[in-house]
Amino acid sequence: MQEPSDSTVATLDEELAGDLVTPDDEAYDEARRVWNGSINRRPAMVAPCTGVADVRAAVASAREHGLPVAVRGGGHGVAGGGTVDDGLVVDLSPMDWVRLDPENRRVRAGAGATWGDVDRETQPFGLAVPGGVVSDTGIAGLTLGGGMGHVRRKYGLSCDNLVSADVVTADGDLVTSSADEHADLFWALRGGGGGVGVVTSFEYECHPVGPEVATTFVWHRGDRAREAFAFFRDYAAEASRAVSVLPFYAWVPDEEPFPEASWGDPAVVFFGCYADDPDEGEDALAPLGEFADPIVDFSGRMSYLDLQKMLDVDYPHGRYYYWKSLYLDDLDDDAIDAIVETSEKCPVPLSTVDLWHLGGAIADVDERNTAYTNRDASYLCNFEANWDDPRETDAAIEWVRDSVETMRDRSAAAGLYVNFAGFGEDDERTAYGESAERLRAVTTEYDPENLFGGARTVAPEE
Ligand SMILES: Cc1cc2nc3c(=O)[nH]c(=O)nc-3n(C[C@H](O)[C@H](O)[C@H](O)COP(=O)(O)OP(=O)(O)OC[C@H]3O[C@@H](n4cnc5c(N)ncnc54)[C@H](O)[C@@H]3O)c2cc1C
Repeated sequence: MQEPSDSTVATLDEELAGDLVTPDDEAYDEARRVWNGSINRRPAMVAPCTGVADVRAAVASAREHGLPVAVRGGGHGVAGGGTVDDGLVVDLSPMDWVRLDPENRRVRAGAGATWGDVDRETQPFGLAVPGGVVSDTGIAGLTLGGGMGHVRRKYGLSCDNLVSADVVTADGDLVTSSADEHADLFWALRGGGGGVGVVTSFEYECHPVGPEVATTFVWHRGDRAREAFAFFRDYAAEASRAVSVLPFYAWVPDEEPFPEASWGDPAVVFFGCYADDPDEGEDALAPLGEFADPIVDFSGRMSYLDLQKMLDVDYPHGRYYYWKSLYLDDLDDDAIDAIVETSEKCPVPLSTVDLWHLGGAIADVDERNTAYTNRDASYLCNFEANWDDPRETDAAIEWVRDSVETMRDRSAAAGLYVNFAGFGEDDERTAYGESAERLRAVTTEYDPENLFGGARTVAPEE
């Protein structure tokens, strides 16, 4: 790899609609920053792209000069795939447009849009695309890795609702991929992580959701954690697919409106919503509040838009994060013991241990139809270490890694979720299971030189 010369920089700068950012620019530190404060890379150039022409120019420049490429959608990739040392960042954040076709329940959005951008356009029409549970996450990375949100069990993953995607390939072609065109690429984009080209826009199917939904957000005492998870297991076994609830182990924040006597205490929280009639939903979710006398119960009806933004404040830019997951076939007593024991060892109490209840529409899709794997799993267990003091970094990362290993030893567990994959250190087989070899074939076809090689990519054949 060579450093980009002044003329390389000048040429690309001229070709872009906006301004190329290099280390000499005042804007550089802001431009190189991604959401996860643990990631501190120094790209040679950051190319803000306003459209396909900019993306093609950036890709051509990287190809010509042998620069490593990072593609950045919303910049919320936990593993930091949206930036790269000494290379070129294709920054799609200016492409945050959204165009809704309410009659046909379709929405198309630029690859720099966030879920907040999409919800804002769809919700006035009572529609939603299944996205994530934090509104400033990018639609791009989240969809390309799968995409789990508040309506997942009723309407599936984000990638299951993808109708087509426009992609700039490594050699600069612009192709539309869908079930009918470039179907192999379309297969790979749905759960394969995205390292096969630059997606410039996503077209999704929308569903009727909201504007008001019944929600559960109830905090139970952590000394009853085992009972709470076992209770949830039984509840979930009977729950309709309109119910998507995520129980998690956490520590009560030191702030109002949490009762002061509970600040810092461990808790098990039931969080989620009912993706259908709110009256029905209140009845369906009520048992989660009644299981025990809670520390505090914020459950009730709220607008779907507010629900989608509710956790934003807990995930500020620049905090340190390390998240890693594994799928569980079953939440048996042994798995519950392991979750509680590992949670109790957590050294950084801004963290959570999340149990995403899966199934429903996610499991309806044939495993061979998309690159996303482990569709039969009942749960995804995600260890989220979140901390502010860099001196806690080693302990936080070690806790997550040890916890994942403990879970793997103690329960029927498999794989990991590409969107919660540590720093991307696991092998392809763990990340992509049966899909790894087919992903290799698609990468070999669309990116034989591995221009987009990165943590989420299956390398092409040599
Ligand atoms: C606060 C927070 C909340 C989250 N909540 C959820 C959740 O509810 N459900 C869930 O499933 N996941 C969730 N995630 C995980 C999330 O799905 C991933 O972090 C995802 O990668 C974020 O996408 P992004 O576009 O913002 O990130 P980026 O860092 O921009 O991209 C992530 C990866 O995708 C690739 N990529 C991005 N855009 C493109 C493109 N246009 N073409 C090709 N490749 C591209 C990048 O190269 C990178 O490897 C959450 C993450 C955060 C930080």
